[in-house]
Amino acid sequence: MPSHKKGETHSKTLVRKARSHGARFRSNLVNLNTLERKKVSWLSKSILYKMGVPAKPKWGSICPSCGKKGDSFELDHMGPWRQYIAAVAGPHISKGGIIKIRHVRMLYNDPHNLWWICKKCNGKKSDFISEDGSVPMSGVKGRNVKLKSIIG
Ligand SMILES: [Zn+2]
Repeated sequence: MPSHKKGETHSKTLVRKARSHGARFRSNLVNLNTLERKKVSWLSKSILYKMGVPAKPKWGSICPSCGKKGDSFELDHMGPWRQYIAAVAGPHISKGGIIKIRHVRMLYNDPHNLWWICKKCNGKKSDFISEDGSVPMSGVKGRNVKLKSIIG
């Protein structure tokens, strides 16, 4: 968990930390509701590891999603990335879903919402969010966020 400066948001803390490891961010405004997945990029693996993402599990490790032994593991978003960002972006997101791309990218790469799951599990997932926003936020315990209610 990165140390927070007083009054600093979760995203700003992460951006500051990522920058200290060499990450660079753009700051143009985007709409989270309509932003395409391909416009958001991963940070490098070496930066992600420095940010606290655990090492890739070895062959035969137990997958935290299905509970079975996995052979190949892939990094995945626990909570659907768009909903996760909507839920944790705080003051960086305004009504209508307008937000600076750097916060989107940082929270997309937030180690708190990333886990290694087996290839089989990852293959079953998609970025699609149902119309009513009812996909459960598995990465944020106790929360079941409806997208529309946050940035609608
Ligand atoms: Zn699995």
